Amino acid sequence: MAYQTINPTSGDVIKTWPNHTDQHIEEALAAAHRLYKSEWSKGAIQPRLNVLRKLADLIDARSESLSRIITEEMGKLIVESRAEVQVVAQIARYYADNAARFLAPVKITSELGDAWIEHHPIGVLVAVEPWNFPLYQLMRVLAPNLAAGNPIVAKHASNVPHCASVFEALVTEAGAPRGAWTNLFVTSDQIGNIIADHRVQGAAMTGSEGAGSAIAAQAGKHLKKSTLEMGGNDVFVILEDADIDKAVDIGTFSRLHVAGQECIGAKRFIVHERVASAFLEKFTAAFKAVTIGDPLDETTTLGPLSSQSARDNVAKQVKAAVSHGATLHYGGAVIDRPGYFFEPTILTNVTRDNPAYFEEFFGPVAQVYVVRSDDEIVELANDSLYGLAGVVFSRDIDRAAKLASRIETGAIWINTFASTAPELPFGGVKRSGYGRELSELGIKEFVNQKLVLVAKP
Ligand code: NAP
Repeated sequence: MAYQTINPTSGDVIKTWPNHTDQHIEEALAAAHRLYKSEWSKGAIQPRLNVLRKLADLIDARSESLSRIITEEMGKLIVESRAEVQVVAQIARYYADNAARFLAPVKITSELGDAWIEHHPIGVLVAVEPWNFPLYQLMRVLAPNLAAGNPIVAKHASNVPHCASVFEALVTEAGAPRGAWTNLFVTSDQIGNIIADHRVQGAAMTGSEGAGSAIAAQAGKHLKKSTLEMGGNDVFVILEDADIDKAVDIGTFSRLHVAGQECIGAKRFIVHERVASAFLEKFTAAFKAVTIGDPLDETTTLGPLSSQSARDNVAKQVKAAVSHGATLHYGGAVIDRPGYFFEPTILTNVTRDNPAYFEEFFGPVAQVYVVRSDDEIVELANDSLYGLAGVVFSRDIDRAAKLASRIETGAIWINTFASTAPELPFGGVKRSGYGRELSELGIKEFVNQKLVLVAKP
């Protein structure tokens, strides 16, 4: 696919970026591998942490220009871009502050002698990343692995090449040596060859199931570790005792954040029958109240989707859902203006034989289900191919926590939607993928957890 910056607000092509050649890839892999073999990767952690700290400062200092680049390239609201940039700096600083502790040797009690686990880098990694959080996704992979000493070659999504090159330049400016993070404008076939290369030891991937499956298959074929962060069909449960106004506010935010293109955004609203009509009325009013427009305009509350194909795909899914019997409660149409806008949309009466029941809608489309009991909630929530995250709203925290434990996902929030923080692990189960990013768990994914045992005298 061609690497192009296309402004989703206007549809204008801003710039086309040439693909990298096989020769360029070879040079990138050689530099990354040389770095892995060097004192930089194998030696003291402090110089690597200094780079992360400098990187965090650079990102904070350029927050406004970076936010504009994100919004102009993939269309999220400027306030959302600012929030993303803020967390990107926080992740760098979090690992700068905590990685030495996470990677310190851990003593094991054994009758066989003195034993401990050391944490060593494993080598060059491949990162394949999506456009919806175009700097955050890169930092989730870079920060823990730079701290651990793993060099990375990265393929970003073809619609965010400006973000990809700006990120690479920032890492270099922060003092990372050549090979620590190399951006590659390459095809899927080239990524397959890179994963197969003997110098590469692992692949971290975030994106769709199709791409994840291709990358995991290639990594598996060559016996390399992979982590996959895929999509979700996350539930937002509203019990009969919930604070409905708060649930509507947070549910609307969760579904319309980044124009509905967030993997952990609420997609299936599961409402207790006693509050279903009150919820639906207020939820619909909140969808009607959005201000659609230019994401650079501070008064806009819903911007465009990231690309024409993203918008067309959502339109197709809504049409198919309705043709299979769902009720179009609100919205449902492409907006007639330049750029890739789609109406905020609510579907009800989605039955199990409707393809929409199992699909992820990566756009501003909510499905609302009505239930009568906690058992029914659990059954519906878990009747999903995905298992990324979810939300439960209730004033009864014990009941909400019990429900949270029974729902098969990598994360559940109670009475909130906390998108992300550096210290919170991120990842899913089922077709939402495997492995975790961020937190202490994230830094342990691609390190050699090596046992050393000294025999008893
Ligand atoms: P996508 O098509 O899978 O793209 C993601 C990345 O994979 C891009 O860099 C893409 O490159 C590349 N890619 C696509 N096919 C490939 C292949 N066969 N081999 C190697 N690389 C390939 O994903 P998307 O539809 O743009 O992104 C949205 C999906 O990501 C949603 O399902 C969303 O839920 C998921 N997501 C998950 C998380 C999480 O943390 N769990 C976070 C964000 C997004 P090109 O652009 O060149 O095709």
